[in-house]
Amino acid sequence: MEKEYDLLIVGAGPVGCVVAEQMALRKGWKSLIIDKRDHIAGNCYDRVHESGVLIHQYGPHYFRSNKKELIDYLGQYTDWIPGNYEVRSSFNGSLYPFPINLLTLGQFFNRTFTAEEAESYLNEIRVPNDEPANSEEFVLSRVGKELYEAFYLNYTLKQWEMHPKDLNKSVCGRIPIRFNKDIRYVDHEYQLTPKDGFTEMFGKMIDNPLIDVQLETDFESIRNTIKPTKATLYSGPIDAYFNFQYGKLPWRSLDISFKDFKEEYKQPCVQINYPNDHPYTRSVEIKHVTKQESANTVISYEVPTWEGDPYYPVPADDNAALFKRYWALAQEENKSNNVYFSGRLARYTYINTDEAIEMALDTAEQIIQDAER
Ligand code: UDP
Repeated sequence: MEKEYDLLIVGAGPVGCVVAEQMALRKGWKSLIIDKRDHIAGNCYDRVHESGVLIHQYGPHYFRSNKKELIDYLGQYTDWIPGNYEVRSSFNGSLYPFPINLLTLGQFFNRTFTAEEAESYLNEIRVPNDEPANSEEFVLSRVGKELYEAFYLNYTLKQWEMHPKDLNKSVCGRIPIRFNKDIRYVDHEYQLTPKDGFTEMFGKMIDNPLIDVQLETDFESIRNTIKPTKATLYSGPIDAYFNFQYGKLPWRSLDISFKDFKEEYKQPCVQINYPNDHPYTRSVEIKHVTKQESANTVISYEVPTWEGDPYYPVPADDNAALFKRYWALAQEENKSNNVYFSGRLARYTYINTDEAIEMALDTAEQIIQDAER
């Protein structure tokens, strides 16, 4: 290495960018960020498709947060536009508002519901369970068998190739169930999207003379040669860091294909879920969120697969146990070599972009505290 770096950062995703920025601004540390891909921003990467339409290359990122300070922090690097995150689910040839709300119930059971009527109706059909132990029990205890089988069971089987009873309840628990007519996908107070895209936002964040980026560089190719003077931040898959010595953690990936149309819009909303038809789980027209003006539009189709880049950790008990063994190694590595493990892949945790950024801010704080000790 010609230059000396205080910090080596493995992964130019949200976590790597935030930690580089924090260490530069708060401590004047010089960082080298490496990434094996040919771009920054990790799975938040967006780019202009051949048709001129901005797409989310690795699946849609619906940015949301409940924390104003997080919005303000990122707001230094982007302007925001409102995020219209509206999803419908296809069942028997019709589209239903999803997550389940009063309108979904009305359409599904062919009657109208007030909030009270819906609660008492669901009380009749749900499968009571005060402590659901998995995703199946969780959904059955909220909405009963018919809605579970229509909207959750086959989507989950397709997404994970696992039965909902073998997945933690937090997986299907990500989806709210509402006794109102709110058709938004998520509940968060701030639902915003970066006006010029995520790549632009993260690019501005690391546009600093103290931060160098080296793309198309695999960690394995440099791990024995690049030695930072102070610390390493590793945001890749934790099992890969330790050469899979306890075996592979399962990662779910997506095979995403894009199709462009010479129409302004193709779908009625950004996302349509297909629990029971097609090999893909959902079709996404991100233009509904980016609000780009164009005569063309692009739809992405996501087919889940075990091959390819790691996207999702698989939230099941035996995987959590395996992760714990790797985490013990990570703590040793932290003590002996100042390596910090942060992000969805390094912590084997199913978190959203806002949570990854918060985790990165915490990690930067930790690095600073350790360095000052
Ligand atoms: N899910 C489902 N039906 C749907 C949408 C989601 O059963 O129509 C379940 C599925 O198991 C999925 C989980 O809920 O993995 C979380 O969904 P979300 O849309 O939050 O997944 P992500 O956007 O993170 O892929």
